[in-house]
Amino acid sequence: ALLVTLVFFWILAIAVAYFLSRSSMKPIIQSWRRQRDFSANAAHELRTPLTVIQNQLEYMLTKPKDQVMTQIDEISTALGEVKHLKTLTNRLLVLARSDSGTIQINRQSVDLEPWFDGILKPYAEIATSQQKAFNPVVKLSGQGRIDTDFIRQLMVILLDNAIKYTPPTGTVTVRVTRSHDNLHLEVADTGAGIADDDKVRVFDRFYRTDQSRNSKTGGNGLGLAIAKWIVDQHRGRITVRDNHPKGAVFSVTLPIN
Ligand code: ADP
Repeated sequence: ALLVTLVFFWILAIAVAYFLSRSSMKPIIQSWRRQRDFSANAAHELRTPLTVIQNQLEYMLTKPKDQVMTQIDEISTALGEVKHLKTLTNRLLVLARSDSGTIQINRQSVDLEPWFDGILKPYAEIATSQQKAFNPVVKLSGQGRIDTDFIRQLMVILLDNAIKYTPPTGTVTVRVTRSHDNLHLEVADTGAGIADDDKVRVFDRFYRTDQSRNSKTGGNGLGLAIAKWIVDQHRGRITVRDNHPKGAVFSVTLPIN
């Protein structure tokens, strides 16, 4: 009887393994793995800035008689990490909500040219303060239907990256144009660019190229995953290619009606 039971469970185990490996189960398993990896990566990303803040505060407590003036460095470091945490948690929230389907694109009609001019305006100052040139070219006419909150977020992600990954004296060029019912958006920079093998992977959650990890540019690898989600939700397309002679060009096409 024992042998029969063992054989029964053995066959059952094989049947379950076969069932799980069948293609119909694959998306479910993949989605479960993605969720598991997402939580683990998120916890890991949250831990690093929290450790820095804890260290700074503990250090300050060892000198309780010091005045704020003498602790500016520690406070600034902790504040920088708090800002980093805020961006990180906002981005995690967008992705978690996108997974659960609790956020949706809500298009409204906007006067395109002034709207894009308004988004790009502050970047001239940001780029100049970092000794980088900023060339915005906005040639649009009329109205378009976009989710303004999300398209603003998309622009911020691409512009922040272009400036962040371009060294001083480099140039960031932005081109926003329209053809019929499509909006074309291009953000080009003269930084190190993105290797061919990385061009698809940079849109994956938490993916950072070795180069940006090594140079400690302080990102979290979530921006472009959100950018892709926003573009997909608008039924658009986002791609990256080489800029010449160097740098990267992120290109977005969005239907706007
Ligand atoms: P991060 O917060 O790390 O910048 P992103 O998802 O926005 O996250 O980008 C993912 C990775 O793609 C970055 O870590 C960097 O390696 C690479 N990357 C993004 N934009 C650029 C760019 N303009 N030039 C070079 N590399 C870039």
